[in-house]
Amino acid sequence: MAKPQVLIAGGGIGGLATALTLHQIGVPCQVFESVREMKPLGVGINLQPNAVRELYDLGITEAELDEIGVPAQEWALVGLNGNDVYSETRGRLAGYQWPQYAVHRGHLQMLLYRKVVERIGADAVRLGARVSGYRRLPDGGVSVQVAYADGARADVPAALLLGADGIHSAVRAQMHPDQPPIHWGGSIMWRGVTWAKPIRTGASFVGLGTHKHRIVFYPISHPDPETGLALINWIAEVTSDDETQLGGGWFRPVPIETFLHHFADWTWDWLDVPALIRSGEFAFENPMIDRDPVPTWVDGPVALLGDAAHPMYPTGSNGASQAIVDARVLGALMCDHGTTPAALAAYDVRLCGPISRLVLRNRGAGPFGLLNLVDERCGGRFDNIDDVIPPDERSAFMADYKAAAGFAMETLNRAPATIAPGARVAAVATSQQVEAV
Ligand SMILES: Cc1cc2nc3c(=O)[nH]c(=O)nc-3n(C[C@H](O)[C@H](O)[C@H](O)COP(=O)(O)OP(=O)(O)OC[C@H]3O[C@@H](n4cnc5c(N)ncnc54)[C@H](O)[C@@H]3O)c2cc1C
Repeated sequence: MAKPQVLIAGGGIGGLATALTLHQIGVPCQVFESVREMKPLGVGINLQPNAVRELYDLGITEAELDEIGVPAQEWALVGLNGNDVYSETRGRLAGYQWPQYAVHRGHLQMLLYRKVVERIGADAVRLGARVSGYRRLPDGGVSVQVAYADGARADVPAALLLGADGIHSAVRAQMHPDQPPIHWGGSIMWRGVTWAKPIRTGASFVGLGTHKHRIVFYPISHPDPETGLALINWIAEVTSDDETQLGGGWFRPVPIETFLHHFADWTWDWLDVPALIRSGEFAFENPMIDRDPVPTWVDGPVALLGDAAHPMYPTGSNGASQAIVDARVLGALMCDHGTTPAALAAYDVRLCGPISRLVLRNRGAGPFGLLNLVDERCGGRFDNIDDVIPPDERSAFMADYKAAAGFAMETLNRAPATIAPGARVAAVATSQQVEAV
């Protein structure tokens, strides 16, 4: 492996997409990942068409995505009476040039990890290596403090450090020492997966209930040809004012009985929610958390990306997508400015403001805000949704959200590739190359 020019803290989806991007444009990099072993953790996530486009441009194929997920065909909100509040086609069916995928988060991370190892080398991701801080150097570079699982510590110099170390980012904590603690949105989610028959189109994202009490579910695998069953990802959610829930941490395994009662009578002739949850293989409790936006993601030669930059509520299903887009925008700007703080400053100008606004918008329930409107206007009870929110208003609401999140169809279809095929960073500065890490 060539000597690293850019160090990346965190080997999640954002960090690995960044490593693949840097390799593609000819920039040597090194990922430090705190876990000792990569495991396919997590459950379902959505990859919006703008992120799928970037994955294709990284040489990740449709066949590979089909192994870890399923192209989404529909996005629907359904009221407690079982009637549709809103539905629309998604991905290619809707006219996007790229599909939207619902995938298993852990399997996507493992796919990206395999690609990094194949393309860059076995040492490209250093496992058991926690980034604890950084020091800006007088020559404009950065020295990165790394604590290894065997107890060793090192200060590793580089031209740039990219903090992709997630919602509890150590890089962000140093960059913004006065940031407020994690912000809790007053609701609890329980996530799990169940083998079940997919409903509606067979690849539908369904949000059912009210803005205070709902279940979201969608398949993350193609159906088994013999049984017709697909792996269905579900997220059951209720609002709560019990702040002690925050102490439970992020992704705490819990018995299904602890929350099943919230959905005990949620049965229709087309859906049995208690059965769906009860047949789950496991459940994780997950408070709805994010962080207040910060005014900048950049400190000279150091930048944040992914959840380290913009942890957001999953209501818009675009946390992972935005992490991938961040990586690609960084790569594009390095093609223009080299591996320099100027590239990071341009990235900050391009994304920090709009994506911080998106974080706040997701607090207002993101696209689920339609359910708030239903609740405000008719207490959630309606026969014909057109009498409550006219079709034009519903469509405008969704179009507005997609524009803010960067996947408005016409804009995306017309946009040139973020990184032109064959683009490379012209001159990689040599002053910060290091001998070994
Ligand atoms: C274990 C796990 C499971 C998840 N499951 C889901 C899910 O089911 N559904 C969902 O919507 N979202 C889930 N997420 C969040 C989702 O992956 C992110 O919102 C999104 O993909 C953006 O990814 P990211 O790479 O910015 O952050 P993350 O995916 O959080 O990745 C950050 C990476 O950095 C590593 N890291 C943390 N601190 C340091 C440090 N100091 N030094 C070095 N490495 C460090 C972490 O181990 C992790 O691998 C999960 C995240 C994690 C870590």
